[in-house]
Amino acid sequence: MFDLKGKVALVTGGNGGIGLGMARGLAKAGASIFVAARNEEKSAAAVQDLQSLGAEAFAVQVDVSDEKSVGEMVTTIVRQCSSIDILINNAGMNIRKQPQDLPLAQWRQIMDTNLTSAFLCARDVYPHMKRSGSGKIINIGSMLSIFGVSHLPAYGSSKGGLVQLTKSLAVAWAMDNIQVNAVLPGWIDTDLTRTANEKDPTLYERILGRTPAGRWGSIDDLAGVAVFLACRASDFITGTTVVVDGGYSALC
Ligand code: NDP
Repeated sequence: MFDLKGKVALVTGGNGGIGLGMARGLAKAGASIFVAARNEEKSAAAVQDLQSLGAEAFAVQVDVSDEKSVGEMVTTIVRQCSSIDILINNAGMNIRKQPQDLPLAQWRQIMDTNLTSAFLCARDVYPHMKRSGSGKIINIGSMLSIFGVSHLPAYGSSKGGLVQLTKSLAVAWAMDNIQVNAVLPGWIDTDLTRTANEKDPTLYERILGRTPAGRWGSIDDLAGVAVFLACRASDFITGTTVVVDGGYSALC
């Protein structure tokens, strides 16, 4: 039920952080992985990491905020493997600014990278999943899909939007046997949060004190949920969100 042998997975932003954690889970379950990101050096290292787990792994360069680049990525993968069975829309970024200080260009950059990218990747992968008769799409939201933070207005909007996109795609493609779900990670130790910790020296302890599990998450904490939402065990689960946060969002 949890076996992914013979499946092809595309993980955007799979060259580090949460994307790599999820890719490792899929790799250990037997899937072939395409790591899709901009930085070729980081992607090559991630591919080696995944190959060391015994998986077939490849890098494909993409800017997920660019429609043409996404189209070319999907064509490249399908030419090589003929199908894409699992799509993880994980690539993302943030810019920390109060709403009154956020230029439109940066708002658009965040929305394009975090939200429009997921729509583009899903739209372009859809015909291939439909043709093969099944598919799994996993969108990576955030605690900011639920909560508001004053200095992350565009990030929060993009992550809230991802939950609604998840529901729309799930409803649209349920009859095609394509399940679409979202994962909302809590505070995970990655490059993204390392930068946040550098900018706000009190952040680390504040999160620790507010997380019932008493620790920050590691990228390995995301491996299991990726496998579950990518395998047959979740075939009747669609349009929902799974929170992976050590209890952060359950605490009042
Ligand atoms: P990282 O900064 O480690 O990873 C971000 C990834 O996205 C990188 O692999 C980067 O690769 C890729 N990426 C960014 N922009 C683009 C682009 N335009 N085109 C292609 N790839 C791109 O951060 P995390 O692992 O922490 O974040 C991964 C996801 O998880 C994000 O969506 C983030 O919002 C979300 N998240 C993270 C949390 C955390 O606590 N860490 C909590 C909740 C959600 P490259 O630079 O090579 O393009």
